[in-house]
Amino acid sequence: MENESFSKLLVQITEMDHRQRHCLLEALTHLPDDSQVIECVESKFDTDGNCPFCNHNQCHRHGFANGLQRYRCMSCLRTFNALTGTPLARLRHKEKWLSYLKAIGESLTIRKAAAVVGLNRKTSFRWRHRFLAWIAYDRPTSLHGITEADETYLLESDKGSHHLDRTARKRGGSASQRGLSREQVCILVARDRAGSTVDFVTGKGPVNASSLRNCLKPVLDTDALLVTDGHSAYKTFCQTEKIFHEIINLSKGERVRRPFHLKNVNAYHRRFKSWLQRFHGVATKYLSNYLGWRRSLEQHPQISPESLLAISLGQFQHLKGT
Ligand SMILES: [Zn+2]
Repeated sequence: MENESFSKLLVQITEMDHRQRHCLLEALTHLPDDSQVIECVESKFDTDGNCPFCNHNQCHRHGFANGLQRYRCMSCLRTFNALTGTPLARLRHKEKWLSYLKAIGESLTIRKAAAVVGLNRKTSFRWRHRFLAWIAYDRPTSLHGITEADETYLLESDKGSHHLDRTARKRGGSASQRGLSREQVCILVARDRAGSTVDFVTGKGPVNASSLRNCLKPVLDTDALLVTDGHSAYKTFCQTEKIFHEIINLSKGERVRRPFHLKNVNAYHRRFKSWLQRFHGVATKYLSNYLGWRRSLEQHPQISPESLLAISLGQFQHLKGT
């Protein structure tokens, strides 16, 4: 509001009757508050205040917009705020963000979250994936010691897509071919005995040594001992990369050699799939967001909406070494 308009408003208050002043007071008292969100967002910028366009570290203040400080880069001269370059850039209604993040912490469906927060369903869907986009990257950077790895599969889903290459399946439908086929999307999970967990969507069809190398090699510590089933991709990967490997061959009835088993990773698969049921099928293109969401809930039980907001802005706990 311009200063001149504001001065006029102050004069108008003196002209109001008692009922009008009461209404104004009510409106001011119940004004939606976005100050907490703005504080969290601005503090993120204080931490790594480089220009999001050219990474230059010198910028100066350049007014305010939408409650946020604007900056101008001294090098490329572009203007930006603390949200520029994040999935939350230009997302409106900051006063509702923490309520929405609380709904994410409680694993509410799109419809329930929309009702609780006061959004329409389309916006609720859009917000879910904006907030989850970076939460999905909040994964441990290394796994140590005995590390179980196993894959699980979900039927490919084009939920929400209007351009299907095949006849649409009914919700929760079954594959047209028996066994593992190109209709199944592979989810790879590795978990060490400290509970650190990484997950990846490796694509359609069975897992192969090349996906294992891309996904697991960067996170396996040199002391890691990989425990897997007898799938040949794991053997190839471990031999090529010289990783300690223990194979559990359950299909041949081999007795489980303690402490080597896949119970933890398989229990993780079950928890993920059972949690996923409430969403009545999720589109494959969003699967990694759901994996990240589930992982975040397991890593940070009882997480506050403020902490979830920090993670959705890329402030990962493991990067701080806490
Ligand atoms: Zn710049």
